[in-house]
Amino acid sequence: HIVCAGHINWDVRLHVDRLPTPDGEGLIKRRHESGGGSAANVAVGLAELGGASHVLGSVGDDERGAKATRRLEDAGVEPHVRTVGKATTVKYILVDEAGDVALLGTDGANESFGADDLPVATLEGAGALHLTGQDPETAAELARRASPETVVSFDPGRRAADRDYDAVFGHVDLLFVNAREAQAIDVDVPIIVTKLGAKGATWAGPDGVVESPGIDVEAVVDTTGAGDAFAAGFFTAWLDDRDPARALRVANACGALAVGEEGPDANLSWERIETMLDR
Ligand code: ADP
Repeated sequence: HIVCAGHINWDVRLHVDRLPTPDGEGLIKRRHESGGGSAANVAVGLAELGGASHVLGSVGDDERGAKATRRLEDAGVEPHVRTVGKATTVKYILVDEAGDVALLGTDGANESFGADDLPVATLEGAGALHLTGQDPETAAELARRASPETVVSFDPGRRAADRDYDAVFGHVDLLFVNAREAQAIDVDVPIIVTKLGAKGATWAGPDGVVESPGIDVEAVVDTTGAGDAFAAGFFTAWLDDRDPARALRVANACGALAVGEEGPDANLSWERIETMLDR
């Protein structure tokens, strides 16, 4: 199984005609709400691809927290969710007509999960511990508790540059970054997977560099969750046979499926991945 740790959020997606710049104004054309958060999204993607996944995270004692947790259960994910007396974190996600996004988040319950909330047996025998952007202390402590056989991966996400993750990087076997984050983060970890949007992704590991082109999509609807679907596809393939070229292809197919769907749910399936790879 794979354990995903980090944010479980409530997403409010505002589809706008343009992302406002300072002093500018956009028009909200549609509004959708659903469960989100990187750790939750990756775990849902893994379950959709037939894997066993667990989530470690925290929500508020409110309806949004209950719904965000139910989303995990409905997908077949095993949630280890701490409920606290703070509102569930809400992300307001502005999505423009090109599928580009800008986010605003509330300071809610999503960082209230501490390493001591970890159920003792959860990490035992895990194939991977996937850490996402979260409190650095918690991330570092979870990584320390993973056994040497467990692959520790880390996707620090959009706010990577704002936080000091030095204590985490020392435990990381595999780092996911996008092109922008790659500029901001300079660390030495065994494997770095760089997500390059429509251009696909690259792998830099002990055996050298592997490049994999992106898959053409008819329309980019919403890039929310593309990186999370990518990670789910990557792990599912890579833990199976450790072939980076195949893992990148499957991951790019999952990312491409995600950008064609509204919201974080990419509705992944092996059948849809095969269709993408046949293009
Ligand atoms: P993140 O969403 O984490 O910021 P990217 O924007 O690079 O990272 O997207 C993650 C992955 O999703 C990419 O590596 C690629 O596989 C896929 N992807 C993103 N945008 C597109 C696109 N326009 N066309 C096809 N695939 C895409």
